[in-house]
Amino acid sequence: MRGSLENAVGAALIGLLVPLAGCAVEPDPPASRVVVVGFDGLEYEALRRYSSQLPTFSRFLAEGAHAEMEVTTPIMSPIVWTTLASGYPADVHGVGGWTNGRGKSFTGADVRVERLWDAASAAGHTSLVSGWLMTWPASILRGQVLSDRFVWSHPMSRDSSRPAVEEEREATTFPDDLAELASGLVPDAAWLSASPLAYQVAAYGAPSHPLRRDETHVRVFEALWPQSEAALGVLYLNGADQVSHLYWPFQDPDVQRVVRRDSTAHKRQVDELMRRHPQQNRPPYGEFGLTSADLGEAGRWVPDYYEYLDGVLARVWSLVGPDTTLVLLSDHGFQCSSSKPLVVGGHRGVAVFAAVGPRVKVRAGGKSHIFDVAPTLYALLGLPAGRDMPGRVLHELFDVEEPERVDTRVLERGAIEVGEGGSAGDDALRSQLEALGYLDEEGRPNAAIGESRRSTNVVVDDKNPVR
Ligand SMILES: [Zn+2]
Repeated sequence: MRGSLENAVGAALIGLLVPLAGCAVEPDPPASRVVVVGFDGLEYEALRRYSSQLPTFSRFLAEGAHAEMEVTTPIMSPIVWTTLASGYPADVHGVGGWTNGRGKSFTGADVRVERLWDAASAAGHTSLVSGWLMTWPASILRGQVLSDRFVWSHPMSRDSSRPAVEEEREATTFPDDLAELASGLVPDAAWLSASPLAYQVAAYGAPSHPLRRDETHVRVFEALWPQSEAALGVLYLNGADQVSHLYWPFQDPDVQRVVRRDSTAHKRQVDELMRRHPQQNRPPYGEFGLTSADLGEAGRWVPDYYEYLDGVLARVWSLVGPDTTLVLLSDHGFQCSSSKPLVVGGHRGVAVFAAVGPRVKVRAGGKSHIFDVAPTLYALLGLPAGRDMPGRVLHELFDVEEPERVDTRVLERGAIEVGEGGSAGDDALRSQLEALGYLDEEGRPNAAIGESRRSTNVVVDDKNPVR
């Protein structure tokens, strides 16, 4: 097994050499290696509340620098993760949400700016990209890409009547033969059922629960990083977001107090929700209503998933070692929705930014903005950001020189890769959106979905325009 894994890694590396043959540029060595772990929906309050169960997160925050990170609105993961990787707002980077209002999903082919790995590649450095949102179709670059559609995120829904989606393999990795290695790393049924999260996987089925997807992204990163010599590694994990949408309220102390006092309070909110949105999936415990007898079990889902993520962080941290700058990010936090606080988790506009490594100043607290992430990562890589990026380098958190900026990292039209228009996972995406109902902070189906790009490239939010 071990031998075949190494062979597969070797094959992936040989595949990598082909497109670079004939390219004799000797790059300057990168200032230092940088690894970014993105946890969708990771919430500071949960890291504090469960700190005794989360030894790695706790040590990471204590030993490194961290700051509360302000998020732009609308808080939608494809928009924010593309901003984090590029430094540009949605109206510049081109990803306006999940779908464009004409039934088509946004993909990596819509991105009109360089992301960090594109810029690193152009400067002669290699990158390892595992699972980052909006990376399908996988770009051709120096390095390796496991796109976000390699293991498609199925809806976290108990409705097993939904048709299974055939996962297409076209352009889901770069190089292409990385798909073979990655397929061998997808956790099997035996591993999933031995996991501490087996009770969650059993409730939703393996394709719908995010553990299988997250673990694949981690395993591919672990398999490739040691040999990759990449200047930049990025790894994206989705599970905290999916589990928190459905289970966040049940671990909230205020919600628990209400449920203990009033055994029908939860059921009333569920009924109200179903009356307004009859096509939506019934939320967990929605049939009979959550009572104090259910709290022990219901309250475990979120902290148990965080415990898994704590283990992931420990694996990545020990793999990359002390000489690498390791950055931990989320795209938003979580809170109980204001309109259905007992029933659904909603996004909170404060995300996590934390880092450890040789150039990190030990400092707790402070403020940052999602616009600051890319310029800071550019500086850590010794590469120039764009003068037209709104963010700044977080000098208060890092000992780093910022190279003089270039005018822009917006792609010229000719440089934009136009995909072949494949449809890997498109149907799965739509069923996911239906199933999640994608609730906004108020607990309503998010009106921004499908309308976020009313005109060709302007994303508008009434209260808080993106630009
Ligand atoms: Zn998110």
